Amino acid sequence: MQSIQFRIILNIDRAGLLRSLWGRMKKLAIEEADAPGLLQQLGKSGLRITPQREHVYNVLLGKKNHPTAEEVFIRAKKGMPEISMATVYNCLDALVSCGLVRQVNQDREATRFCSNMQPHHHFYCDECGAAHDIERIDNSTEPPVAMPQGFKPSRYEVTIRGLCPECAVKANK
Ligand SMILES: [Zn+2]
Ligand SMILES: [Zn+2]
Repeated sequence: MQSIQFRIILNIDRAGLLRSLWGRMKKLAIEEADAPGLLQQLGKSGLRITPQREHVYNVLLGKKNHPTAEEVFIRAKKGMPEISMATVYNCLDALVSCGLVRQVNQDREATRFCSNMQPHHHFYCDECGAAHDIERIDNSTEPPVAMPQGFKPSRYEVTIRGLCPECAVKANK
């Protein structure tokens, strides 16, 4: 009698496990659709796709306002409470090295992460430190400057500094 009961409990557990595995697989399939190219890009760089990398990428795609690693960590914890700061750094490194995300650096400020891989320029707000994407109007690789002799530019990016719309409004009050 006892052994029968034991078997029933085991079976129930297994059913529960299967259900949760199936749920996880379905969730992965949905998230993958939200993150096109993640699998291919990671694979090309010989990097494994992990739920953490996928999650961090989705965090970056979810709100494209150039968050710092710290901000990514805070947002990532919402959907994955067990994720650590070290893991977030590792995920960001992997996403940068496979070309899905790029780092945006302003002097002396924390590195920010940009998931817009189209060539674009950045506007940095002197007041709040936010970085905004500025669309390019031409796709030339030649910067509109007098290049010194011998230099062969392959790409360029314009950095514009000033006040973002919100800070400009506050400054006018
Ligand atoms: Zn601002
Ligand atoms: Zn950007």
